[in-house]
Amino acid sequence: MAGWELKNGSITEYSVNEDGIWSLFNYVFSDSSRKRNTYKFGLVKSLLDNVFNGQNTETGIKYTYEELFSRFPENYWNLVIKYGLKKMRKDGKSIYSKVETILMTAVAENPTLALLEFEIIDESTKSSIIKKVTAECKKFVVGALYDDFDGILYSFDLKDDGITLNYCVYEFMLKYKAELERLNYYSWARFMEQINDDNALIRVIDKLELSTPRRENLSVYREILRREFEEDICFYCGKKLQKNMHVDHFIPWSFVKDDKIWNFVLSCPTCNVKKNNRVPSQDYLNRLEDRNRKIQLLQNTVIQTEFNRYTDNLLKRMWHYAKLSGIKEYVK
Ligand SMILES: [Zn+2]
Repeated sequence: MAGWELKNGSITEYSVNEDGIWSLFNYVFSDSSRKRNTYKFGLVKSLLDNVFNGQNTETGIKYTYEELFSRFPENYWNLVIKYGLKKMRKDGKSIYSKVETILMTAVAENPTLALLEFEIIDESTKSSIIKKVTAECKKFVVGALYDDFDGILYSFDLKDDGITLNYCVYEFMLKYKAELERLNYYSWARFMEQINDDNALIRVIDKLELSTPRRENLSVYREILRREFEEDICFYCGKKLQKNMHVDHFIPWSFVKDDKIWNFVLSCPTCNVKKNNRVPSQDYLNRLEDRNRKIQLLQNTVIQTEFNRYTDNLLKRMWHYAKLSGIKEYVK
């Protein structure tokens, strides 16, 4: 049975060393792993983007399909609609993958959508696209990627609500997150080079990276931190904040690719610009852990939800791995 036809699978080996896991990832990135479309790259990316959001269970780290696939449509929207990149090899039947067809059909029905960012499309169109894309990806990629990894990566059952990542692979993905991201982008770009014409390909790696959905509007966090938590001084320099305060990703967004309140601090524009894409030093980390311990006690549903899977340890590890990935330290 081909991998994509699998409906469930268990983890075949719980304890695999780093060399073994590298060789499996390298296989998936190579041309030896069969790909008609880019779904596998999309799922690897999604696992990496979500890696810190998992939930500890007895058998591994759990991620729901909803978490994993909710960003697929937006990602593909940018690649297909905004940048006009083809996603699938010609196979005699069709030159478009099902996901492309779903997106292009939506645009054919309402051509003005092509001018819009996915985020601002009307709710009913958006949710109908998300539903269709999620169903499609879940069906064709979860079993396929499981099979490519010889059952080492995760266990899954399409009837359940998610996959459970093997703990040793989870550790590996934390440690090599940045390297895996780069290799995944590189292989994804190489795959698209084979199926797109040169015009579409200019700086394709940038396009892949830019396609990661990013929450534009962080003002909700600003308000919570400022009002609920009465945070009115710059996290970095301690000066009183003015109206032009910034919401800063403590661990840079380039590493985390996610927006969570426990990773946000308020900062004056000067410090925000100075800090830029750097990881703050240990004393700042300690301070943020203290801040997060207090903020969790607030009876605010937004905060409670955001802290669902937060632990001190998580922030510490993120910090450690961000530095390991080559991001420079920010010292005041
Ligand atoms: Zn400051």
